Amino acid sequence: MFIRDYPLSKVTSLGVGGPADLFIQPKSASEVAETQRFAAEHDLPLTIIGYGTNILVRDGGIRGIVMQIADSFAQAKVEGTILTAQAGCLLGSLSKLALLHNLSGLEFAVGIPGGLGGATFMNAGAYGGEIGPLVHSIQFVQNGELGQWSRDEFSFSYRNSRLQNEAHGAIVTRVELELIPSEQQDILQKMDDFQNQRRSKQPLEFPSAGSTFKRPPGHYVGPLIEQAGLKGLRIGGAEVSTKHAGFLIRTGAAKARDFLDLIEKIQETILQEYGVSLEPEIRILGDD
Ligand SMILES: Cc1cc2nc3c(=O)[nH]c(=O)nc-3n(C[C@H](O)[C@H](O)[C@H](O)COP(=O)(O)OP(=O)(O)OC[C@H]3O[C@@H](n4cnc5c(N)ncnc54)[C@H](O)[C@@H]3O)c2cc1C
Repeated sequence: MFIRDYPLSKVTSLGVGGPADLFIQPKSASEVAETQRFAAEHDLPLTIIGYGTNILVRDGGIRGIVMQIADSFAQAKVEGTILTAQAGCLLGSLSKLALLHNLSGLEFAVGIPGGLGGATFMNAGAYGGEIGPLVHSIQFVQNGELGQWSRDEFSFSYRNSRLQNEAHGAIVTRVELELIPSEQQDILQKMDDFQNQRRSKQPLEFPSAGSTFKRPPGHYVGPLIEQAGLKGLRIGGAEVSTKHAGFLIRTGAAKARDFLDLIEKIQETILQEYGVSLEPEIRILGDD
């Protein structure tokens, strides 16, 4: 059931980072609950990942158990305007499922490479859309038990959700999204526009974890980094993308340390030059 010393570089889009002491991919909500109870009984830390597209795992890896909720949680259905999906459904697939049912709301998500669980935790968003406002209910596992939140029990803000705060430790297993009926042609048009913008502006040909930093109030991260002359800066195999300075990309072999040093260098420079403090959007996990 558990795999020992599993290299997390295999399950993160950046492709860096050390091993998980114990790694597991559960197949059902009851297996998620069982693993959570096991971790508590044995006093082992438990870390949840989805498709690893928004995380940087340090080189020493992650102690205790890493539970990946991904392609074995990939069922979705549509009833009326409600799209119900397991946490491992890819956002791109959900966006296309909504299109097939003439439902609008998920167009923004078509090019986001992660899963619905991670997107709910992060309140993922793009081009003026976000997961949060679409959420109708969330099924989760907490303290080894299955539970459900309705919309009014849940709060989201910019790249933040209750899961990062008071509900820390809750594991999302299924989400209901409420969408809006619309013309298929209009939905498709928006999806195509967003994909074209992504392809022209983002360094999709290199491994990355998306935007590295949250947008500070009143500023855009990419232009700030570019104006500070940091575009193209490289430490080891980590580089500030020359296509979009808000993305850090992996060029060849790299260590997590290269990314951590580059992040620190950018934060120091932007603080000194502009008095703006940049907070990472990517989640940095594990030990050095
Ligand atoms: C090229 C590229 C472009 C991107 N563009 C965007 C974008 O436009 N907008 C945007 O918001 N993001 C973007 N991202 C980041 C990322 O794809 C999203 O945040 C995505 O929703 C994360 O999903 P994931 O499954 O990869 O989660 P992971 O990266 O595996 O996890 C992210 C966080 O969520 C938690 N988590 C994951 N699954 C669960 C669960 N089931 N229950 C509880 N917690 C969980 C993890 O503990 C972790 O803290 C981009 C990434 C890349 C590589």
